[in-house]
Amino acid sequence: MERKYIREVKAGESVFLQGWIYELRILSKMAFILLRDSSGMIQCIIKDKELMKKISELTLESVVEIYGKVKKANVKAEFARDDLEIEVTDWTLISKADKLPIHLNEKTTTTSFSKRLDYRFLDVRKPKVYAIFKIESTIMQAYREFMINEGAMEAVFPSIISASSEGGTELYALKYFEKKAFLSQSCQLYKQMLVCSAEKVFTIFTVWRAEKHNTSRHLNEARQLDFEMAFADEFTVMDIMAKAVQYIIKKVMEKNKEELELLGVKLKVPKVKYLTFEEANKILKKNNIKTETKDITLEGEKKFGELFLDTIVFVHDWPIKGKPFYIMPKGDGLSHGFDAIYKGMEITSGGQRVHIPEILEKQLRERDLDPKNFKSYIDSFRFGAPPHAGWGLGLERLTMLILGISNIREVTLFPRDRERLTP
Ligand code: ATP
Ligand code: MG
Repeated sequence: MERKYIREVKAGESVFLQGWIYELRILSKMAFILLRDSSGMIQCIIKDKELMKKISELTLESVVEIYGKVKKANVKAEFARDDLEIEVTDWTLISKADKLPIHLNEKTTTTSFSKRLDYRFLDVRKPKVYAIFKIESTIMQAYREFMINEGAMEAVFPSIISASSEGGTELYALKYFEKKAFLSQSCQLYKQMLVCSAEKVFTIFTVWRAEKHNTSRHLNEARQLDFEMAFADEFTVMDIMAKAVQYIIKKVMEKNKEELELLGVKLKVPKVKYLTFEEANKILKKNNIKTETKDITLEGEKKFGELFLDTIVFVHDWPIKGKPFYIMPKGDGLSHGFDAIYKGMEITSGGQRVHIPEILEKQLRERDLDPKNFKSYIDSFRFGAPPHAGWGLGLERLTMLILGISNIREVTLFPRDRERLTP
């Protein structure tokens, strides 16, 4: 008999199911199993006397194959299909689970987050946790789809870099044969080099930042949705970013209805607002929020989340002092750089880049970085470099904000932070 997924079973048919035992209730003459597979859960009832004799071999999370008849039913069990149940005719125990170290079924007891992360491979079996990662998967897929529709080329870039830091963060050093090397803080320089031939480039790239922060919005290893485009300025790519996020959110609303419901999240496709850095700070001052001369404060980001609900707020004409050396200056101390703020947090930084070697060298020196360390990068713009622009959008940031989850670790399968290096 061919295996059926729980989502597919129909009333009246005989089925062969494979899955895990999420819940097990053994009464004197019958037993109830909530069987889970990647598609859902269904209640299975065991009434047969012979089968009841071997019921003690079953434990929570054991892997079983179940044979049975699908019956119409009115099931009340949380997470399970409410329309059908299985009358079990036989089962095979495939892999017996030991006593669980954490509670997957948190009806009565809850487990601390740190312990949950210790056993993340089990934690992710919980329907609500699984829902988060199904949605994150949709986000990545939708991003790819959007970019392919845009005609962008997907590329992969090295994560081990030789020396030169872009600045703005600490790097992890490592031994690379006889040399010293570092883990990459972004693929910025590489995507710029490629954009000079491919014109539109995208990637999902892992970044490492050795910052000793312990916040609920930072990881030491994070993923970025990156994009870079030739013959474009910051306004072109802000528009593309807004459309990408709108596309992603539409896809999540379409594909993850059940998961959103399970998590109690009501999503709206965001609107878009553009503010200059100066306008942004004027609004903040009016609202008695502290401002800075080269960045938007955390309280400021939060305030924009309150003032502009379900809106991607682009702050452009950013002071050049607050942007990295590769952002194009605009004169008057301003730049072609921008940040995007959504639901009260920065999700993206981007801008038009410098494609002119002399300006790169000047801006490096202004930031106390040595142009010699960036020679191959700078030289790559000496052989026909078009003006170009792009951005990096935090995957986990976006996921946590879309889902209204306050700790970024909740949306990271195996988070790396200051304390955690396993599993
Ligand atoms: P922040 O100011 O929030 O610390 P950043 O300006 O240092 O971020 P960028 O270098 O601009 O970050 O990276 C682009 C995007 O990648 C950010 O807007 C954010 O969404 C995400 N991101 C950056 N650093 C982290 C991190 N440590 N953990 C999680 N996401 C991050
Ligand atoms: Mg930034």
